[in-house]
Amino acid sequence: MNTFKTYNNISKEGISILKKADFKINNLNPDSILLRSHKLTLTELNKAKLKCVGRAGTGVNNIPLEPASKNGIVVFNTPGANSNAVKELVICGMLLSSRGIIEGNLFARSLKNESIEMMSEAMESNKSLFKGNELKDKTLGIIGLGAIGSLVAEAANILGMKIIGYDPYISIESAWRIPNDVEKADSLNYLLKNSDYITVHVPLTPDTKNLISKKNIDLIKKDSKIINLSRGDIVNNEDILMALKLKKISKYVTDFPSPNLAKRSHKNNDVILLPHIGASTKEAEINCSKMAASQIIDFLSNGNITNSVNFPTIKMSRSSKYRLVIIYEDAPGIIGNVAGKIATYKTNIADMVNKNRDSLAISLIDIDRKPSNTLVTDLSKIDKVISVRFC
Ligand code: NAD
Repeated sequence: MNTFKTYNNISKEGISILKKADFKINNLNPDSILLRSHKLTLTELNKAKLKCVGRAGTGVNNIPLEPASKNGIVVFNTPGANSNAVKELVICGMLLSSRGIIEGNLFARSLKNESIEMMSEAMESNKSLFKGNELKDKTLGIIGLGAIGSLVAEAANILGMKIIGYDPYISIESAWRIPNDVEKADSLNYLLKNSDYITVHVPLTPDTKNLISKKNIDLIKKDSKIINLSRGDIVNNEDILMALKLKKISKYVTDFPSPNLAKRSHKNNDVILLPHIGASTKEAEINCSKMAASQIIDFLSNGNITNSVNFPTIKMSRSSKYRLVIIYEDAPGIIGNVAGKIATYKTNIADMVNKNRDSLAISLIDIDRKPSNTLVTDLSKIDKVISVRFC
């Protein structure tokens, strides 16, 4: 019987998937942990039976990864589970930056003490102040065509926008998803020069820090709108503020406010600040917890690994009822030693797959009979083997 422990408020849909798979709650010594942003301590990680941690979300800086890897604990995250939520907010960001929605709402509210007749008259005579532009036929530049960027491309295509995409490292999966008529930019500069809207969907890395900054802001088409729901440091705030002041760009929409952006937003209406709500939907939370729970179940029931941040992806369909899951430090000769030891127990290997990532490796070995406790113990004693279990 497999067990789990949760931290944070994990959605009931994720928990019910675990319960349906016969997983029981064990808060003292669980096989698996399901969490969101809880900062996992070493004491919580070093529980004797713990085999995996599922993070319902993307970032894993709340989990001590190095100690986890050293102990052979698989850490999962849920990339893509909140992509639709972010995609919808990008479309919203484009509309907010185009249609005088925020200013119009503030204006209409300011008339609260007027009669209905006065209010209608004031609105009719002032509505030209809030005139905007449509998205159809405008060009959207998408930087990064991964889980979110490719969904934005699909949605913008349906809205009748022209799309330029820039992603020198695009995955095959994303490449399949993006609409055929997305123009592939050879350079970031080409995208910046030719887009009316620019949206950023790349991870924050040393390479993408300040991806949009004074070194290339001058290339951007006048009056363009920039949307950054990725990470604050990908766009240089001070350089953006200067570009807004010089009327180089017309709006900046971001999920990563700073005091200077907030001051500008107060004085002018050209900065739209959102309090990091890109993934804050009920649906995204449910998707993340369901995905994390399914990954935990597949690993504990079959040894299969999908979306781990410290272990390789591995998957093998069952050839027998008995499967050994062996985790070890990657080194020559271990697989041979493991196979040799299994043979000494007059046990046949029906199928086997081995995968490695950095210094860690995992083997799934289907055998033709239930392994004895002594076989499992003997395999555990092989040099560099971290853990052995059967499922
Ligand atoms: P992803 O890994 O699926 O896609 C990222 C894409 O960026 C990949 O296709 C990659 O090839 C591309 N890329 C990397 N470096 C690049 C570069 N220098 N130029 C162009 N393309 C480059 O990631 P995702 O799930 O689409 O997430 C994108 C961003 O959104 C991340 O920064 C993530 O942190 C952020 N995010 C924000 C929220 C929020 O609440 N606002 C929620 C989820 C994700």
